[in-house]
Amino acid sequence: MHETAFKPLTVETLPARLGPIAAVAERVGGSPSAWKVREVGDGNLNLVFIVEGEKGAVVVKQALPYVRLVGESWPLPLKRSFFEYHALVRQEKRAPGLVPAIYHFDEGQALTVMEYLSPHIILRRALIQGWQLPRIAEDLGLFMARTLFRGSDLSMEARERKQDLALFADNVELCDITENLVFTDPYFAAEMNRHTPELDPLVKELRADRDLKVEAQKLKHLFAAKAETLVHGDLHTGSVMVTESDTRVIDPEFAFYGPISFDVGMLLANYWMAFFSQKGHEAQGSREEMRAYLLKVIEETWTVFREEFSRLWRTERTGMLYHRSLYEDQGDHLGAEQALNHVLHDIWTEMLGFAGVEIHRRILGLAHNADFEIIDDTGLRAACEAPALTFGRHIAVNRERITSFGELHALARMLD
Ligand code: ADP
Ligand code: MG
Ligand code: MG
Ligand code: MG
Repeated sequence: MHETAFKPLTVETLPARLGPIAAVAERVGGSPSAWKVREVGDGNLNLVFIVEGEKGAVVVKQALPYVRLVGESWPLPLKRSFFEYHALVRQEKRAPGLVPAIYHFDEGQALTVMEYLSPHIILRRALIQGWQLPRIAEDLGLFMARTLFRGSDLSMEARERKQDLALFADNVELCDITENLVFTDPYFAAEMNRHTPELDPLVKELRADRDLKVEAQKLKHLFAAKAETLVHGDLHTGSVMVTESDTRVIDPEFAFYGPISFDVGMLLANYWMAFFSQKGHEAQGSREEMRAYLLKVIEETWTVFREEFSRLWRTERTGMLYHRSLYEDQGDHLGAEQALNHVLHDIWTEMLGFAGVEIHRRILGLAHNADFEIIDDTGLRAACEAPALTFGRHIAVNRERITSFGELHALARMLD
């Protein structure tokens, strides 16, 4: 038998195929023929199985040579699983305890065996249900600051970082998805786009918006050319699993070296979309508390990110950039603070831009968010989506001139 020939797992074949792997058998326990296997993948791209036995459970994620959502007509290389595995290993090292533990990786089969997160649920589902998770701002603010700082030239040894950049540079096809779906498709009549019909007039306006289209391409340029750090690349609320007391980030198959600001912008955009979706979820009662909670989470996430990034700047700035010999070693602590202000300012203005276009692509492009999608009444859905689009346009185009959450919260409230 050729061990390396790729073959998708099925619920039926999984026990016999993974039974011989000690890392799996020891955790699941009992005879593989007695394992209970379920396929639970709800994502757009891959297979995800939960495997339960008498001792415990694991999750098995396997890539397919095509996009699951679309089918074999849209091929996508298996190597995304390799990038996901390597990103998870780095994230665990840089921000311990915030990703699932990895038990086994098989490159030929494009499969990863990992910790079964239970009773965790997907953050987006929790927010739709109106849960106010107490830990997400702190945990995800720290996750972003630590992974993004520690993967950059502010922290890493230059040779090691360049080698890592070369490794991830091959994740071309997944970057290509983002480059097209986020930065370009929403702004013309791309084939795979769809939107709520009531949005037609606004969509026409946005596609004719010269300032917005120039801004979106400037952001695309940053995304493609500013290889600052290893980013998660798909850090929306569907890539986070939560309980009241635990937060884990999953699904980094889009990982590549890009701008520090990208993950931050995508995550905050998804919270802003949750905010604008609230009036679609008010059948069971007012969501006013949820609105206030979401705005608080947005601000706190940024504050935690900024404070932790600043702490790491002061204590772990061991890379080639802004070297201490120029600042602290000469007694010039203020110089290091000035440089930090420049770096944080760029992250802030880019973050607002990425957030703006992420909002657009989730309403106008191929991949939509359940926050809006589960609102059946299209008139009501459009009444939620239109203010989100207008908000996204405003923050993308005015990102150099917006300086505070006071302004952003007021803008969100005014448009909602
Ligand atoms: P895709 O890349 O296809 O989006 P994900 O990694 O996001 O796949 O996983 C799809 C779904 O599988 C998640 O939304 C979640 O419900 C479930 N899942 C993934 N990883 C785990 C895990 N470690 N523990 C429990 N459930 C998981
Ligand atoms: Mg996913
Ligand atoms: Mg962990
Ligand atoms: Mg994925």
